[in-house]
Amino acid sequence: MIRWLALAGLLFSFTLAHADVKDIRVWQSPDSTRLVFDLDEPVKHKIFPLNNPNRIVIDLLDATVLIDTRKVDLDGTSIKGIRTGKRKKGMRVVLDIDQTLKPSSFSLKPNDVYKNHRLVIDLKRVGTRQIAAPVKKIETRPTGKRNVIIAIDAGHGGEDPGATGPNKTREKHVVLAIARELEKLFKKRAGYSPFMVRTGDYYIGLRDRTEKARAANADFFVSLHADAFKHPSAHGSSVYVLSDRGATSETARWLANKENESDLIGGVTLEDKDDDLKMTLLDLSMTYQRNSSKGAGSHILNHMGRISRLHKKRVEEAAFAVLKAPDMPALLIETGFISNPKEEKNLGSRRYQQKMAKAIFKGITDYFDEHPPEGTLLAAELARKQSLKPYVVRNGDTLSEIAVKNGVNIKALRRANGLKNDVIHVGQKLSIPRT
Ligand SMILES: [Zn+2]
Repeated sequence: MIRWLALAGLLFSFTLAHADVKDIRVWQSPDSTRLVFDLDEPVKHKIFPLNNPNRIVIDLLDATVLIDTRKVDLDGTSIKGIRTGKRKKGMRVVLDIDQTLKPSSFSLKPNDVYKNHRLVIDLKRVGTRQIAAPVKKIETRPTGKRNVIIAIDAGHGGEDPGATGPNKTREKHVVLAIARELEKLFKKRAGYSPFMVRTGDYYIGLRDRTEKARAANADFFVSLHADAFKHPSAHGSSVYVLSDRGATSETARWLANKENESDLIGGVTLEDKDDDLKMTLLDLSMTYQRNSSKGAGSHILNHMGRISRLHKKRVEEAAFAVLKAPDMPALLIETGFISNPKEEKNLGSRRYQQKMAKAIFKGITDYFDEHPPEGTLLAAELARKQSLKPYVVRNGDTLSEIAVKNGVNIKALRRANGLKNDVIHVGQKLSIPRT
C-alpha cells in the first residue's frame, strides 16, 4: 500500500501540467540579483552558468514564456538582456550578464499575496564577501570619541512586499521611506552614525539583517514595519523588544552553534569558556540587551504618542527573529496599521513619514544621550556635563570670589564658561568645574 502510494507520488511529480510564464520581475540588491518568474503552474527547470561571454541558462521543461522579455525592466541590475528560445520540450531562457554570477533557485507556491506559482532565481556576485558568521570585533573599534552606530532596518523589500493597505500602499515602500528620513536625521546629529540595512527595493533574510548590523558594529538595531489586521479599524503604533522566551531560545542557539565560539559577546570571546560560564555571559549580555531595548523603546513610545495614537502603551515583547542578537539592543517598531484606511493615508504621506522618523529619532537619542556606550563622543559629552555644577551670579559676586569659594582656578572657570575677561552680571548662569 505504502509502496503504491509512493509510486503514485513519483508519477505525479513527473506529470506536471504545462506552465506559462506570465511575468518576469527583477530585484537588485548590493550583492545579488533576484529574478522571479510568475507561472500558472509549477515548472521543472535546470539552471547553469556559461562563460565567454558570461551568461546564465535556465531551461524550463514543458513551459512557454508568454511575455516579451525585451520589455522586462533591467535598469540598474547585473542583467544586460534576457533572450528566449524554443527547445524540443519547453523553453530556454538566457540571461546576458556583465560579470560572473553564481546562480541558485527555488520554487514558491501561491499564497495570500501572490496568486501565482513562482520560480525564484538568485544570482550572487562572486568574490564579494558573503555575510557569513557575524563578526563583531569590539576591540577594533576606535576608542575615545567614536560615534554611536544606529542600524536602521526597513522591513521586507523586493519580492516580499509586507502588508498592503486597502489602497494598495505597500509596507516595504513606506518603511524604506521612513528609514531614509531617519537616516537623514542621524547624519545631521553629532555623535551618531546611521547604518542602513536595506538601501533599496530588495529582500534580505532576517538573520542576514542582524548580521549586517553586527558587522557594521552597530550599537542599536531598529526594524521598521507597518501592521495589518483583518479589521480595518485596528490602529496605532507599537514597539517590540525580544521576549524572555525568545531570549532563552536565542541563548540556547548561540550555545549550540560552534561557529559563534570565536565570536565576541560584548567584547568577550566565548572560545575558552566552559558551558556554564558561556551561559552566564550570554545571559548577562541578553539581559543588558533587553533592558537597553526597553529603555529606548519607552522613550520612543513617549514621542510617538504625541504624533499618533498608540496601539499599545507599553513596550511589547515578541520573539521576532530580527530582534535576536545577544549583544545588540534591538527594537521592532510597527509605525501604524496600513490596513486602516486613515493610517494608510498617513503612512503614505511624506509629512507623516518625517514626523514618525522624528519621533523615533528623538526616542533613540533621548536614550543614548542618557546612556552613552563607553568610548563614544556622547559618553565624553555626558562626562563633561556631569563634571560641571550650575551657578547663578548674585548681587555683589565677582568671578574671582566665585572661584575661591568653589575652590577652582579662575582660568579654569573662565575656560569652562568661554569668558574672555572677568566681567559677569547678576542672573548670569555659570558652569563651575567640579573638583
Ligand atoms: Zn512587517
